[in-house]
Parts: sequence; structure tokens; C-alpha cells
Amino acid sequence: MQKIIVGNLKMNMENIATRNAYCKELIAKSTKMTTKNTVVVCPPTIYVEYFCRALQNTPIRVGAQDCFWELYGSFTGNTSPQAIHALGGRYVIVGHSERREHNHETNEDIVNKIHGALRCELTPIVCVGFLSHGDEMESIHNQINALTEGLGAAAMQKIMIAYEPVWAIGSGKTPTSDDIHTMVMYIRSLIAQNCGKEQSLSVPILYGGSVTPHNARALCVDAHADGVLVGGASLAADRFMHIVRAISL
Ligand code: PEP
Repeated sequence: MQKIIVGNLKMNMENIATRNAYCKELIAKSTKMTTKNTVVVCPPTIYVEYFCRALQNTPIRVGAQDCFWELYGSFTGNTSPQAIHALGGRYVIVGHSERREHNHETNEDIVNKIHGALRCELTPIVCVGFLSHGDEMESIHNQINALTEGLGAAAMQKIMIAYEPVWAIGSGKTPTSDDIHTMVMYIRSLIAQNCGKEQSLSVPILYGGSVTPHNARALCVDAHADGVLVGGASLAADRFMHIVRAISL
């Protein structure tokens, strides 16, 4: 089955030379590679246009790391999903735990942002997770229910979910393949309860948290996840493409 590999570059590449070198290497590596999988890279918003232009003749698609729920207006500092689409972006990460923490985003904000993204034909990659061991089922339950209630069955089928245990992000620690598989099935069962079994099968569920070239296959293929969301290991183009290769084998 086709997998989805998403790189979240976060607020990195803070100078033009680093940005250009990254894209150059990504182009070089991707043209040598054939994969049936979907590969998406999400640069800082300010670079979305550059990445879309640079990668237009490669199989790599581009997304943003956040968007606002309105398409335009007096919302200083926010990013219009319509502008992301106009520049060539086709995906947007929504509800990353770093935004839930630092920008105090609520489940309601996240549902609104997803609606905004869908109006502009962006595919939202919606992050759900939990802060510590112990409260995982309850947190996931609350976050998934907020999505199914706020979006409804039809819109749920247009999103992807990235299951990201917060303790695994950037820590080098990961759950086992079995743990990930259990959580993927749990998330699917929650979607099935509220939206129907058939609908639940069409929602891709990715895993994110300390994915590397070394563990990518175990955390994706062995865990029966539909893909991975990669932070730190996507910051070097060759490591990111190693992950793509490891999953594509
Ligand atoms: C993330 O921030 O979404 C992430 C998965 O980061 P990392 O791969 O660095 O753990």
C-alpha cells in the first residue's frame, strides 16, 4: 500500500544559502529515485513559494506548517490557506503539539483551521498526541472526537492524521511498532464509531516522533501506519531521502 512521508522543517533554514543548498540536494536525490509513495516537504511559510518553484519538476510535493481559518482580512501575522494554495502548496500541517503549546491552539481552533484549509483544497495533516504516558488513550479520544464532531464524516475523509506522542518528538525515544499499531487501530476505531467503518478506512494515519533512516521501516511499515511525519531527520536532505528509500523498499 502507498505510504506518505512528510518532512516538517519547522523554523529552520534561517538563511538563504542553507535553504538553497537543501533544495538543490533534495532535487539531486529525488531525481535519482523512483517511489510509488507520496513525499511532502513542509518548509517555513516564508519559503513555500521558493520550494514550490524549486521542486516543481520533482515528485516531491510542498506543504505549509500552519494556516489560519479565514482566507483573507485583518488578521495580522496569520497565513491564508488560499495564499498557500496559490503559491503551489497542497498540504498543511495543523495542530502540531508545538503550536498547541506555544500558541495555545485549542481543538476548536484546529477544527476551524481544517475547515479553512479544505475550502482552499489543501490536505490537512492533523497532529494528535499526548504529553505523557498514562493519559494517552484519553487525550487521543478527546482530540479525535473533537475532530469527528467538528468536521463530520465527509470532511474527515479529506484529512490525514499524524499520531505523535509528544514525549517522542525530538527525544530519540520511540514507541514500539506494536504500540504504534495499537494506537493506529484505536484512532481508526474512534473514527469508525462516529463516521462509519468504511469512512474510517480512508483516513491515512501517520506516525511521528524521532523517525530516522534506521527506524523508519519499523515505525511505519511494521507498525501498519500509513506513513510518517519527520522533524529533525528531515533537516538534512540526504537523511530525509534515506527515510523515503527505507520505507519504499
Ligand atoms: C515533529 O515535530 O513533528 C517530529 C516528528 O519531530 P522529530 O522527528 O524531530 O521527533
